[in-house]
Amino acid sequence: MDCKYCGELIQFHFYEARNDELRAEQACFSCDFWLRRLKEYQKGETFVSGGCAYTPAVKRIRTDKPSRWLGFAGTHWEVKHNGEEYITNDLWHRGSVPEHFREWMPDNAELRRLR
Ligand SMILES: [Zn+2]
Repeated sequence: MDCKYCGELIQFHFYEARNDELRAEQACFSCDFWLRRLKEYQKGETFVSGGCAYTPAVKRIRTDKPSRWLGFAGTHWEVKHNGEEYITNDLWHRGSVPEHFREWMPDNAELRRLR
């Protein structure tokens, strides 16, 4: 079975429930990952800046975990997304949005590294 998003052959070499999910979505592992990011993007949980997707674990400076456990090792970022502005030190990079997902996930945020 080919992935209906990228056309690659879908590899069903995961546990059964996972294979069933991929089969139901007709998506390869990578496109399934991006379908999940797309749902987050539509809910405002993930944003895209410069063609890359990011998900803030929190929209503030957190002090409850050592920085080595935080996204980008606790780097501070200023985010402007959906009319909201905040600084986070727990931002997670999800990767470059693949070509075939870009029309559904255009840039929708400004991101600035603070320190
Ligand atoms: Zn695919």
